[in-house]
Amino acid sequence: MTVTVRFAPSPTGRIHIGNARTALFNWLFALKSGGRFILRLDDTDQARSTEEFASGIVTDLAWLGVEPHESFRQSDRFARYDEVKADLVARGLLYPCYETAEELDYGRRRRLARHLPPVYDRAALKLSEEDRAKLEAEGRRPHWRFLLPNFEDDPFTPSRREIHWNDLCRGAETVDLSSLSDPVLIREDGTYLYTLPSVIDDMDSAVTHIIRGGDHITNTGVQIAIFEALGANVPAFGHHNLLTDASGEGLSKRTGAMSLKSLREQGYEPQAVASLAVHIGTSHAVERVASLEELAADFDLSDTSRSAAKFDDADLVSLNAKTVHALDFGHVARRLTDLGIPADPGFWQAVKGNCAVLADAANWWKVVTGPITPVADADDRDFLADALRLLPPAPWDGETFRTWTLALKEATGRKGRALFMPLRLAVTGLEHGPELAPLLPLIGAATVKDRLDAALNSSA
Ligand code: GLU
Repeated sequence: MTVTVRFAPSPTGRIHIGNARTALFNWLFALKSGGRFILRLDDTDQARSTEEFASGIVTDLAWLGVEPHESFRQSDRFARYDEVKADLVARGLLYPCYETAEELDYGRRRRLARHLPPVYDRAALKLSEEDRAKLEAEGRRPHWRFLLPNFEDDPFTPSRREIHWNDLCRGAETVDLSSLSDPVLIREDGTYLYTLPSVIDDMDSAVTHIIRGGDHITNTGVQIAIFEALGANVPAFGHHNLLTDASGEGLSKRTGAMSLKSLREQGYEPQAVASLAVHIGTSHAVERVASLEELAADFDLSDTSRSAAKFDDADLVSLNAKTVHALDFGHVARRLTDLGIPADPGFWQAVKGNCAVLADAANWWKVVTGPITPVADADDRDFLADALRLLPPAPWDGETFRTWTLALKEATGRKGRALFMPLRLAVTGLEHGPELAPLLPLIGAATVKDRLDAALNSSA
């Protein structure tokens, strides 16, 4: 059987790094096993789902390098859900309930007071045809619950019914269905909650592995019962740990925090984001990778830790810098041109170590071409006059800086910071930056001379 996985976000916001983790776990799993990856848009909540978010998800996945083999949306499949609904209703497995939220809350509190588990007591199962007609005549509309298979003969005396699965991330997992209320699958207004459509889609798409966040573990107990009620093959499940922000807060699509869109706009490389999203909270070190194939090579769901993993921007910053420094020049060249910078390997080699994101190259290009404001300390006036006098003749190359500073050292007796800093400040206007040796020929003899002149004048 072909391995088939799916990533099923709801298009109610931009996907964040935690969603990327789920998408990539599925993608890498498919990649490793020669399987198929389906993108399913869980848009049954039509009030909150938008077209813009739906296309944003496709864009964000493509940026990461995830290209689904198939995509579909749940809102195109209501007729199919209605068909399964009718079947479950006919078999007495989906039943109408009329309690209001207040009534349910009251029932829960009463059970708690009697030291009973606060689960729904299935009172609606006792309603007769007339009772229901009367309630409907009062204007009440039913919501629909799935009858969990947690009893022998009498649904009013539930007994322990354990659902077991061998979780691909967490190992043996158990959910006891007698500890749960019959889940509401359809709301009073007729809209479907996520639980049932998800099972129908997974069944119809022959999904073999459901890989998703640990917040779905209880759902899995319920959904396995639904798969069984529908006579479908039960897929394998893997629940990965969730990511939190640096303060331990869960990530939410609604706030837009850590969205892939914002990370992309800040200039982060997709490989860096992917590596962090996948390696964090596992037994692997967070390390630079060149591609998703490389990430897939040692990917194993069972390496995932059980506890939540903190996502720290600082990790991304350093991982991104390493990723940028190792980029292949063929790839860099096009992006430099897009930034309006000549695709010059010498320039890239000179500045890449000082680029946290590739776009930083634009700042260094400005330092090369100017205009800049040369900086000089009054104490360095004589030294800069010597520097100007001892400038080696053109043409310049990678050795020029060495020749120049050796001559200056001999003439002035300066060394170390006292020798180099005034030159850096005069030539670049900055205290920090790339090595001056390769920068010098890029800036050019005439410009360096002008900048030294200007530095001398400014210190006058
Ligand atoms: N739409 C659900 C979510 O984003 C999908 C969960 C699942 O993968 O089954 O949480």
